[in-house]
Amino acid sequence: MAVTLKSPAEIDRMRRAGRLVAEVLALVESELAVGVSTAHLDALAEAHIRRAGATPSFKGYPGANPKRPFPASLCISIDQEIVHGIPGDRTIREGQVVSIDAGAIVDGWHGDAARTFYIGEAPAPVRDLIDTTRLAMMAGIAAAVPGAYLEDISGAVEDVAAPRGFGIVRQFVGHGIGRSMHEEPQVPNYRVGRKGRRLEPGLCLAIEPMLTMGSPDARMLDDDWTIVTRDGTLAAHFEHSIAITERGPQILTTI
Ligand code: MG
Repeated sequence: MAVTLKSPAEIDRMRRAGRLVAEVLALVESELAVGVSTAHLDALAEAHIRRAGATPSFKGYPGANPKRPFPASLCISIDQEIVHGIPGDRTIREGQVVSIDAGAIVDGWHGDAARTFYIGEAPAPVRDLIDTTRLAMMAGIAAAVPGAYLEDISGAVEDVAAPRGFGIVRQFVGHGIGRSMHEEPQVPNYRVGRKGRRLEPGLCLAIEPMLTMGSPDARMLDDDWTIVTRDGTLAAHFEHSIAITERGPQILTTI
């Protein structure tokens, strides 16, 4: 799919989708506690999205197996799970690293965002993993200015994550967003060795580093969705949808 640039009016409409996604993440965070099932968190998220007259974008999304579209409104990925974990009977436990990814469609426009939480008081290395993933995302966002290039975003993310020794997942990357959840261009979280597309106002991107405590290699579980670290180490994931404007990057997935 080609890159589409959004007008300021269209960016305003994307902001509504972004705000709803941010609300969902805030709601889920407020309910995230030991003993709560991931299915319960998912039900809360779906109810909030539907109450707003919007549609959960993940539910029914096609994946690797055409017979198994994604069955839920949130991805909830725990510990060594990087992304695309499926909500279900599992309950949240003390000491878990919980990544929540939410997506919604408002009047045809998508918002997509993710955050990683620690249940309890995180040991310093895990705190560092989570903080570094968030800071890497923010550095990527800050690099998304008109006149820069895609590689500047990728490099900014890499320059936060790599010096701290974390694995940068390469099999999954950020993406353009708009009337579809996944549009061109892809936004890698590491330098690919070419400048890539020039950034200009109207380009909307989901910037989403995924970092691991060990190797960045990932594999899919038998459920055809859940992506885990191959070496079993912990992973974190942060994501914002942003719009590049004349005045610089603006985060859309915020309240
Ligand atoms: Mg995304």
